[in-house]
Amino acid sequence: MDPTVQRKLIEQVANAVVSHADELTTLDQAIGDGDHGLNMKRGATAILERLDDLAAMPLPDALKAMGQTLVMKVGGASGPLYGTLLMTLGKEMPIAPKQSDVVRAFGAAIAAVKKIGRSDVGQKTMLDVLAPVHVELAVEAPALLARVRQRGAASADATIPMKASKGRASFLGERSIGHMDPGARSSSLMIAAACTVMEE
Ligand code: ADP
Ligand code: MG
Repeated sequence: MDPTVQRKLIEQVANAVVSHADELTTLDQAIGDGDHGLNMKRGATAILERLDDLAAMPLPDALKAMGQTLVMKVGGASGPLYGTLLMTLGKEMPIAPKQSDVVRAFGAAIAAVKKIGRSDVGQKTMLDVLAPVHVELAVEAPALLARVRQRGAASADATIPMKASKGRASFLGERSIGHMDPGARSSSLMIAAACTVMEE
């Protein structure tokens, strides 16, 4: 990937997290322990501190390095989960990926998240955004990036009526209904930011 594009991609995704940290915290206050915004902001800031470094690496290496940073810097459940997502993406992604490579790598990364999270689609987690986005990515039709962004946003909204059965929100049982899952929201935010950069 062109280093300028790669830099912008990393920067914009991290900035989206930083600028929405309060919103993520508010969502986590409703059905968790209120640290998701802070957790994600810590990870995004650590990535922004290494931006020059990360932009100069081959894409697979940059993804692995960002994943390791998230595992180290982000507390909570989301650190190891997003860390695993990025590290697996890095392991599976070729240096110059085609759409089909991205689909395959993203599929492997989601499978790795399910494995370490002992979780699956339908439990009101980040997987309820990541999995439908993966499906949308695989569709060979025009306006791929616009469709992916839309699917991410709609899938995050669709977690509102769900009852959580994984993560802290599951402790609330029925009371988790009526709130968007914080990890679903952070996933949709990062996906939207990545789509916007790729569209430009
Ligand atoms: P913690 O729950 O430890 O406070 P965060 O608040 O940073 O960690 O992240 C919470 C988010 O992590 C949830 O909103 C959910 O999307 C995601 N999550 C939690 N547990 C799992 C799991 N087992 N599998 C997938 N995603 C999970
Ligand atoms: Mg939390």
